[in-house]
Amino acid sequence: MLLRNRLLSLNLTSFLSPPSPPPKSASFLFSFNKTIAHSTHKRPESKPDVSASRAAKQPMSERARFAKTVLFVPPGVDPEDVTDEMILPGSNIVVGPYAGHSQIKEVEFVKSSGRAKDCPKDDRPEFAILGRSNVGKSSLINALVRKKEVALTSKKPGKTQLINHFLVNKSWYIVDLPGYGFARASDAARTDWSSFTKGYFLNRDTLVAVLLLIDASVPPQRIDVDCANWLGRNNIPMTFVFTKCDKLKASKGKRPDENIRDFQELIRENYKQHPAWIMTSSVTGLGRDELLLHLSQLRNYWDQ
Ligand code: GDP
Repeated sequence: MLLRNRLLSLNLTSFLSPPSPPPKSASFLFSFNKTIAHSTHKRPESKPDVSASRAAKQPMSERARFAKTVLFVPPGVDPEDVTDEMILPGSNIVVGPYAGHSQIKEVEFVKSSGRAKDCPKDDRPEFAILGRSNVGKSSLINALVRKKEVALTSKKPGKTQLINHFLVNKSWYIVDLPGYGFARASDAARTDWSSFTKGYFLNRDTLVAVLLLIDASVPPQRIDVDCANWLGRNNIPMTFVFTKCDKLKASKGKRPDENIRDFQELIRENYKQHPAWIMTSSVTGLGRDELLLHLSQLRNYWDQ
């Protein structure tokens, strides 16, 4: 009950209502139900799945089922054991035993690549940052690394359509991908984005997760929903990072939390377990430390 209250306080009531009865199999054509959602797609069998083994022994309680459906429960955490304190504020993310050192001490630009096969080949884990043009991608990267020149690099003419790798703490990468949905882009340019970026997603073994940025100050956009569904269908782990959550309700239109709820509802039917999501603002710093902590647990799990 406490858990539920906590999530309800985010005003995501409709998204977070208790799970409906099991859907017919037909509606799960896209069963994006990865083993412990965000873990690596490379070696799941080599990792002990604590929650799965317990679940096999005894039926899951309603509380645990609820937690599993709406929360991102990371490796090493049993849904039965989740408490309020383990949920990162402004998110559905549970912090587990893999969370660790998360602050960024240094960051360096490594290279821009035109194709997935030209990207760095050193096996360090990476997170790709993706979103519609103007979603706030550069601002978020600046806020995460606390350096202006990083995101400026990828805004330089000639770099915006490339895969830009930034090495963090000499141990993992932030990857800035081209923004999609330029209002004025020609059809040819849009197709280009698709084939080139899709190639990266499908062939990059060191990709731990995609951070899909969604502008919470506007209603859900078809192109974002399509992108989320494409990633899900292709079993690419993702975290929804809602941007601009500081923006208060415009004269007309909805609040960020209402837009977030609407977006979640649109994609909800495609997921048995909802992907991780978090509210951020590059203006106020909302969600910054929490997002970094989340990345640390995904990374540490992937790394071991
Ligand atoms: P990009 O094209 O995705 O890299 O987007 P930018 O980072 O350049 O941001 C686009 C616009 O949104 C700029 O005017 C930013 O100042 C604004 N913006 C970005 N993030 C935020 C945010 O968290 N809150 C608010 N209020 N505005 C933001």
